[in-house]
Amino acid sequence: MYEMVRVGDEGLIGEIVKLDGESATIQVYEETAGIRPGERVETLGRPLSVELGPGLVGGVFDGIQRPLTMIREKTGDFIRRGVEVPALDRERSWLFTPTVKGGDKVSGGDVLGYVEETKAVKHLIMVPPGVAGNVLKVFGTEKCRVTDTIAEVETEGGEQSVKPLQTWPIRVPRPFSEKIGTLTTPLVTGQRIIDLFYPIAKGGTASIPGPFGSGKTVMLQQLAKWCDADLIVYVGCGERGNEMADVLESFPQLEDPRTGEPLINRLVLVANTSNMPVAAREASIYTGITIAEYFRDMGHDVALMADSTSRWAEALREVSGRLGEMPGEEGYPAYLASRLADFYERAGKVRALGRPKREGSVSVMGAVSPPGGDFSEPVTQGTLRITKVFWALDERLARRRHYPAIDWLSSYSLYLDGVSDWASRNLSPLWRKLRDDAMALLQKESELMEIVQLVGPDALPERDRLVLEAARYVRESFLQQSAFHKVDTYCAMDRQLKMLQAIMEYYRLAKEALERGVRLEHIVSLSSPKALPRMKIVEREEFEAFLTKLRESMRKEFEEITLKAEA
Ligand code: ADP
Repeated sequence: MYEMVRVGDEGLIGEIVKLDGESATIQVYEETAGIRPGERVETLGRPLSVELGPGLVGGVFDGIQRPLTMIREKTGDFIRRGVEVPALDRERSWLFTPTVKGGDKVSGGDVLGYVEETKAVKHLIMVPPGVAGNVLKVFGTEKCRVTDTIAEVETEGGEQSVKPLQTWPIRVPRPFSEKIGTLTTPLVTGQRIIDLFYPIAKGGTASIPGPFGSGKTVMLQQLAKWCDADLIVYVGCGERGNEMADVLESFPQLEDPRTGEPLINRLVLVANTSNMPVAAREASIYTGITIAEYFRDMGHDVALMADSTSRWAEALREVSGRLGEMPGEEGYPAYLASRLADFYERAGKVRALGRPKREGSVSVMGAVSPPGGDFSEPVTQGTLRITKVFWALDERLARRRHYPAIDWLSSYSLYLDGVSDWASRNLSPLWRKLRDDAMALLQKESELMEIVQLVGPDALPERDRLVLEAARYVRESFLQQSAFHKVDTYCAMDRQLKMLQAIMEYYRLAKEALERGVRLEHIVSLSSPKALPRMKIVEREEFEAFLTKLRESMRKEFEEITLKAEA
């Protein structure tokens, strides 16, 4: 099962997906039109695998890891069937710096040395899992290609040469020494509703379900651009054909805000092009996560984005249908849930195999596109059961152009407690209380809105109308964040905290004023709070000064109207 094969005279790439006595069923990952009876099928003696080694970063691969840019050079703009191009460039050479010496004892996962793959990513060359023995020889600092021997190891079974290039079967998780249970360090994304309300921890899993047009792709791309992972693996399962083209065109031109280098220096793209059959999508997710695990093993924090897992599940359904398997709910195979679990369980924070000691993580964020926005369908349900963070995109919010359209009432994050601990130690002890107070305000708003819809706002007491006013500031000046505004697109965590603090301070001052007899209409007509929405677009360097001034003038104005009312 799962052996790789080449089919027909053109040598199309396929995988054995079913064995029945003497006959095998092969899923071919390329267009099969024109194949005739009698053509050769050749088994390759290994499962569908990826190549791992220097040259991955910055690469753009298809679902079975053929490099797209090189294929283009070789075959023109369309990928010709059956072309065999190795994933990693065999000619390119790298400067290898060894960190072990002859005589050292090594075993699987131990670091032999490193290559500066890009300015952003240090690529450790590790002993492949399963190899152990004494280092006979290391080849010193010199230019090497991925297939050159960099070390010779004397193992029980004889001498073995280690090369930078390793292969790994995509359906098998890479081994590690230990999984780290509680996750507390947030994956900082610069997106306010995520970092402050529904954070994801490094090594965590999140799902972004939302109907067509609700902003899944924009959100995933924002995360890819801004999150503080060392490496990003972006798997595009082709929602629409032109979307992947957009990613392929735009990503290589983006700048990494952390280093000022091109973003592609810490990015690996796995893209399913539209001229590959649907089934190739099924493989692409495993290709992506195997690459992510490999960099995790070096001690990096890796973030994997999959857009969208619904398309992947559809591929699974198609393959299952062809195999004549008994369909389950909505035609998906019965093992859909367990396949989803197998995939998301490859996320996590681990202590890597081998020495020196290192910890790495893979965080997985998957978009789900339920048809018609119906969250009760099997893929959304299967995903929700496994992932720990749920960012529910809401069509109504998107229609009102409230972006990101994450519904603050139905979303959740099970990392909240862990991240709260981290934030109170590293940012401010007020972090959790501030968040909970703001959340309570939004909840109260939603309760009041039900009454408002029945009897109109004027029927509410002033205290409650103030809740609506303050909650509006939280929504519009804090939760709304434009992906396309040059300042607003990224908001650092301490700035997020200060922004929310200012809004909640407004609410506190207004409540006090109300209690001391100020009329709500006077509070609402104050001019200083009208500057609250500008907090998100003030340039980084001017933010502190702007905020100090804003808070001072708010305090002053409230003091004045209170004194006036009491006089
Ligand atoms: P989906 O992938 O869910 O079908 P998209 O991600 O393509 O939806 O988003 C649809 C449109 O919504 C985008 O073209 C963009 O105009 C708008 N949009 C989504 N998110 C944001 C955001 N954070 N800021 C501004 N506009 C957004």
